[in-house]
Amino acid sequence: MTMVNGAEDVRWDLTRLYENPEGEEVHDDLIAAEQMAEGIRSRLHGRVAELDAAGLADAVDELQAMQEKVEKAQTYAYLNFATDTGDPGRGAFLQHDVLFFELEWAAVPDERADELLADAALEEWRHFLKAVRRFRPHLLTEPEEKLVTEKAVTGRSAWVRLFTQVTDAVTVDLDGEKATLEQALASLYSPDRAVRQRAGGAVTEALQPGLPVRTYIFNTILADHALDDRVRHYSSWIAARNLGNEISDDTVQALVDAVTSRYDIPARWYRLKGRLLGIDDLNEHDRYAPIDPDEAEVSWEDARGTVLDAYRSFSPEMADIASEFFRGYIDAPPKPGKQGGAFAHPAVPSAHPYVMLNYTGRRRDVMTLAHELGHGVHQVLANKLGLFNASTPLTLAETASIFGETVTFGRILSEEKDPKGRLALIGGRIEDICASIFRQIAMNRFEDAVHNARRDEGELSSDVIAEHWIRTQRDMFGDSLTITDEYKSWWSYIPHFMHTPGYVYAYAFGNLLALAVYARYEKEGASFVPSYLQLLSAGGSDTPDELGRLVGVDLSDPNFWSAGLQVVDELVSEAESLAAAQTGSL
Ligand SMILES: [Zn+2]
Repeated sequence: MTMVNGAEDVRWDLTRLYENPEGEEVHDDLIAAEQMAEGIRSRLHGRVAELDAAGLADAVDELQAMQEKVEKAQTYAYLNFATDTGDPGRGAFLQHDVLFFELEWAAVPDERADELLADAALEEWRHFLKAVRRFRPHLLTEPEEKLVTEKAVTGRSAWVRLFTQVTDAVTVDLDGEKATLEQALASLYSPDRAVRQRAGGAVTEALQPGLPVRTYIFNTILADHALDDRVRHYSSWIAARNLGNEISDDTVQALVDAVTSRYDIPARWYRLKGRLLGIDDLNEHDRYAPIDPDEAEVSWEDARGTVLDAYRSFSPEMADIASEFFRGYIDAPPKPGKQGGAFAHPAVPSAHPYVMLNYTGRRRDVMTLAHELGHGVHQVLANKLGLFNASTPLTLAETASIFGETVTFGRILSEEKDPKGRLALIGGRIEDICASIFRQIAMNRFEDAVHNARRDEGELSSDVIAEHWIRTQRDMFGDSLTITDEYKSWWSYIPHFMHTPGYVYAYAFGNLLALAVYARYEKEGASFVPSYLQLLSAGGSDTPDELGRLVGVDLSDPNFWSAGLQVVDELVSEAESLAAAQTGSL
């Protein structure tokens, strides 16, 4: 049972978006957007190539204003749905599509485009318009693109939805009680090894009956992705994702190489963890075992105080922006029908972002609050640029959140004097990092293997997929932890592999980037703060490479990634020496 922690009544206020939820405002916004789209289409369809710089700037202004109305309505529908998933709500979609604009702009010859982009009238939209053109070599004709978009509803999207349905329907027999997959996986955090092992076994059993269906879905999605890459002429399965992330294939490869060459770091940690837990045959179901089972519950007030104090110690401006979220923009408590997990939603620039949590008073929840507020601060600062320039590519989307976590972690650690408490804190931090950097890259290696195998060998059996899965997981853990055959089917409930192929490395990218940036702050001190805030305020108005330069980071430098990993290496060393001091025998 969850105790009262003060978060129970912390609910967000969506009337800030639309004052009267039952009123016509949402509808009015959609009608207005519809009319704007119709106007844009009737005036510009087939004529984008004839526009001069000023005309182009006006067109983008207008598109942004229209898009803002649509996204505001969508935000409202989504946030309502997140706290009450039983209510499917109404989607907000436009009848008149404006896809033509990007396609026609992308079709403008390079020479003419460069000339236009050099014009001062397009200063604000330079990166946006350049970014649209990055897909130029891979675009199909407008009727083809339209068909692809429309067919996706009965193709790719349908398979993803089927996957979600069959996976959501998985029920686990947990000691005679029916549990959801999420509940059963939560038992892997139990301090009781017998509970963990039984839960793990029960999950394996529950994944079995639907495995052929999920294998078929995965095969279809892999094939669909291969087909897309073929007709659009991408050089590899990951190339389109990298282009979407505005990062070069070489930079991504440098990240992957750097992380896989330091698999000794997670291995060292799990060896130590086995010793701390007193288990000499650690297996995959023990990964999440707590090393400090009796951590104290944190009240909502304390969590808020800790995070805001930590933020303030870095920058008062950052703390002030974060404080505003506590005035009606956070939905904190878990409740029946509410979506699991946590997120920060940017809303739209004309409104304030929102944060959803499932706060239960664990120390992890405090870090989640710090994480989501990091996103929130980033969104508030970047929203000043307007919709099209605010949102960052995936690769930079996690920088502010992990940075916020790191600042908060530093604060909590500095206040913990007890060596046992320090070890628990550092251990928790290392595990978060293992999950967000090493495990994501291990999963990226799995994706790399199966995408290539599907292209070379045709349809893959569950066993072949399982082989790639087990191998790429074993690579990461080395001999520190046994990955048993029970784990063979555990790839098959992970949604990212289905809905966004190639997504997972972006977590590792963002996490390592944030660690390396934080290391810079530690070195430079207060003088670093303005450049960091400048980075956040720049949103997605430039490429990750250019934005990195704002904080003195060169993403194309292979040593940059190694420097981030060194921070983790040092954390593990500190955990090792704390453990040795405590037991004297490690
Ligand atoms: Zn995040």
